[in-house]
Amino acid sequence: MAEPTQLSEIEVARETLRGLVSRKIPPTPDNYRALYFEISGAPAIASFPEHELKALHATLPRTSPEQNRFARQFEAAIAKGNWDSVGAALTELLAKSGSDQLHWPGLIRDLVQQLEVHHVGLTAAKKKEALEHVLAVSGTADLLITRLQSLIRSWMQNSAAGRAELVSPVAAAVPAVPAVQAVAAVSARDKKPPPNQPAWQGGIVDLREIIAQLLDNTLSIVLRDKPDLAREASDISNNVRAAQNAEALIGLSERLKKLCYRAHFIAEDQAELSTALVHLVQLIMENISELVVEDQWLTGQIKVVRDLVLEPLDLRRLDDVERRMKDVIVKQSSLKKNLNEANDRLKLMLATFVDRLADFSETTSDYHSKIETCSEKISKASDISELTEVLSEVMRETRVVQINTARSRDELSTMRNRVNEAEQSVARLQLELSNASELVRHDLLTGALNRKGLDEALEKEIARLRRQGGTLSLGLLDIDNFKKLNDTLGHSAGDAALVHLVGVVQETVRPQDTLARYGGEEFVVLLPNTPIDDAVAAMTRVQRELTRKFFLNKNDKILITFSCGVVEIMNEEDPYEALKRADAAMYLAKRAGKNRVIPA
Ligand code: GH3
Ligand code: MG
Ligand code: MG
Repeated sequence: MAEPTQLSEIEVARETLRGLVSRKIPPTPDNYRALYFEISGAPAIASFPEHELKALHATLPRTSPEQNRFARQFEAAIAKGNWDSVGAALTELLAKSGSDQLHWPGLIRDLVQQLEVHHVGLTAAKKKEALEHVLAVSGTADLLITRLQSLIRSWMQNSAAGRAELVSPVAAAVPAVPAVQAVAAVSARDKKPPPNQPAWQGGIVDLREIIAQLLDNTLSIVLRDKPDLAREASDISNNVRAAQNAEALIGLSERLKKLCYRAHFIAEDQAELSTALVHLVQLIMENISELVVEDQWLTGQIKVVRDLVLEPLDLRRLDDVERRMKDVIVKQSSLKKNLNEANDRLKLMLATFVDRLADFSETTSDYHSKIETCSEKISKASDISELTEVLSEVMRETRVVQINTARSRDELSTMRNRVNEAEQSVARLQLELSNASELVRHDLLTGALNRKGLDEALEKEIARLRRQGGTLSLGLLDIDNFKKLNDTLGHSAGDAALVHLVGVVQETVRPQDTLARYGGEEFVVLLPNTPIDDAVAAMTRVQRELTRKFFLNKNDKILITFSCGVVEIMNEEDPYEALKRADAAMYLAKRAGKNRVIPA
């Protein structure tokens, strides 16, 4: 036989076939391969059945993250054409499944034990029902182990915490059902991992809960008009809460990424939508302001609304815009009615006047010319019979004038009655207007909120406080010696002083603070998210501003001062009780010499 190294592959192949025949060996692929390597003298290389392994890979189960991971490892090993990698993947899988097997004795022991123990709010029947449900819906051993562990944990936590509300045990063990959230939430809240859980797992529980809350509480708001995405968010959130390890969490990252991507577009759309709405409101306000030129207060309110929507949007500002819009609608509808009626009456009266005037002047000028003619006839008359004729003509003409004058007098008196009626109905309309003002939330003189507006604003701020926490303070101020100002400068100067004070307060406090006219010369300032010390500082700043920005009355600089009581609304305190405390503090400020701010 020639040196094997000198044979070409074809020659080796030929020799192998000959060898099989001469040695009478059955020509199977294995026999052929063994003889081939024998003849070639090269070490036998095990063939790598890539095709078969790929077929096997395609049939691998992939119901759990663990299985997915194994399938990926297996595929990579096949791609490398390397038995060692396949072996490593298999070894790991076996080790894992071996360790899973190790779970069973402990798990069964725990299960039996917990089935016997009494748990608060759980009957044995309920526990059995939960167990049956878990057995029915957990398709793989992995899932079954995880869910049984979760179920047992939920029972144990229930008894430990004594919290009946946690347990819908069926749901507790099965992902995508709310009680799983409760279990996760509780372990996150407690911040302590169960005794057999390493600390880092506690960290994962926290992270899980944060992600789930982000999905449930924040993203759900962005997605409120997209039910399919909202469902996806809630499904991911349930899966996040049910995830038992870091890998399960990471397994959700693709879905999360996709959801965030789509939510991003929706959030952008919503931002554009709100900008477009603001522009629309601005446009409407511009149009309205062109229609309404008569009413000072109305134009003032419209200007405020226009200015407000120019600012970056803010919930409190929007509340205020809403209140002002409602005011404008109430006032405008009442004014329109008033104006239409007054206009109709005026038109009617003017028309009658003009008609009567024309009639009267016609009749009288006619009469004058006739009398002139008569007086000429009288001067020229030569006998009494001529004179009698002229006299009877004068009498006739005078009677016509008398009749016309009487008619005019009657008509004028009818008109006077109508004017009286018009006056009465204007009074009635004015009453209606002031009734309508009760629906209005802003004070008609100063534009600050009125009592009704204050009630609404207080209600909103209190609700916000109870919902979001934080602080809410309020200042109650009363102008010092205001009666004297009225008495010396007149009531309308007093009015202007009130308007001035409101302007200064509004310029000085923050945009989120609310000013309301509480009574004649008393005002309330609501200061959200402000502890009492800061509230005192804020009201003192207003006081200082008033000494800088004088009230001008006919070029005279008038100093307005106020006394103020400040309170921080206490937990669960009725806001009107807080107002009473502020009033008492304000009274103390008056007693202490006025022009000061005193905290309650
Ligand atoms: P004090 O410093 O103790 O508060 O004295 P004061 O004079 O400010 O208080 P008082 O309560 O004696 O008088 C308040 C005055 O405010 C009486 C009332 O005529 C006047 N007032 C209330 N509302 C208005 C208003 O809308 N316009 C005007 N010009 N005056 C008003
Ligand atoms: Mg007062
Ligand atoms: Mg006063």
